[in-house]
Amino acid sequence: MVKGNLFILSAPSGAGKSSLISALLKHESSRPMQVSVSTTTRNPRPGEENGVHYHFVEKKTFEQQIAENVFYEYAEVFGNYYGTSSAAIDEQLSQGIDVFLDIDWQGAQQVRMKKPDVTTIFIAPPSRKELENRLRGRGQDSDEVIADRMAQAQSECSHYQEFDYIIVNDDFDTALTDLVTIVNNQRLKRSQQTTVYQDLFNDLLAND
Ligand code: GDP
Ligand code: ADP
Ligand code: 5GP
Repeated sequence: MVKGNLFILSAPSGAGKSSLISALLKHESSRPMQVSVSTTTRNPRPGEENGVHYHFVEKKTFEQQIAENVFYEYAEVFGNYYGTSSAAIDEQLSQGIDVFLDIDWQGAQQVRMKKPDVTTIFIAPPSRKELENRLRGRGQDSDEVIADRMAQAQSECSHYQEFDYIIVNDDFDTALTDLVTIVNNQRLKRSQQTTVYQDLFNDLLAND
């Protein structure tokens, strides 16, 4: 069985990562896909469920988990810890599931070092103004949190050259099509197709 592919989506907060990943998971796909559920010390937003959007934990618990080497990567973002647990993604990848990480640039750097074949995608908003509109329009963060996220946006964007692909999320459907194209591009690589179609190639190359 072919192992799952690992994808990273990074972007300034509000650019549309969560919306794009959620739409992608509903899209028709030749292979199973899952989004990795991160652990965080930030407070849940209205409507966010523990274990679905994030595993919400206290700072003390997170620090304990760091010491226990639970995380594949972790970073401090906007004054809170965020991390991806190794066990969850290793298990999914070994089951042939394509896994999507919605993580910041610091996390992307850590994963790239551990797993050079990861596919990394940077999602850019169409403008700074529109980014702010989306953060406000989402209606889930206070003015103070929004100001903080806008201030961090430039720092997140300054890392765009470290990514394999760039999607500008202006028209949502176009951005989703771009994302589907990147995923399919990865799956169609010879290295993967020869594993998926091993029997076919044995048959095509057989001497009768
Ligand atoms: P959902 O509410 O479970 O569908 O979560 P999403 O993260 O996908 O979307 C959050 C909100 O953004 C929902 O109200 C969506 O309808 C809205 N949304 C998603 N995509 C777009 C888009 O392209 N344009 C606009 N204006 N709203 C969107
Ligand atoms: P992120 O996960 O990157 O923080 P979200 O997916 O939560 O961002 O998107 C932020 C807000 O922008 C949400 O309210 C979402 O509905 C909206 N949004 C996402 N993509 C688009 C788009 N292409 N056009 C307009 N609004 C969008
Ligand atoms: P939010 O609070 O809007 O859900 O996420 C804030 C930021 O933290 C985003 O840039 C998101 O990509 C990042 N993030 C979420 N989960 C993780 C994670 O597990 N690891 C890292 N490094 N960043 C994460």
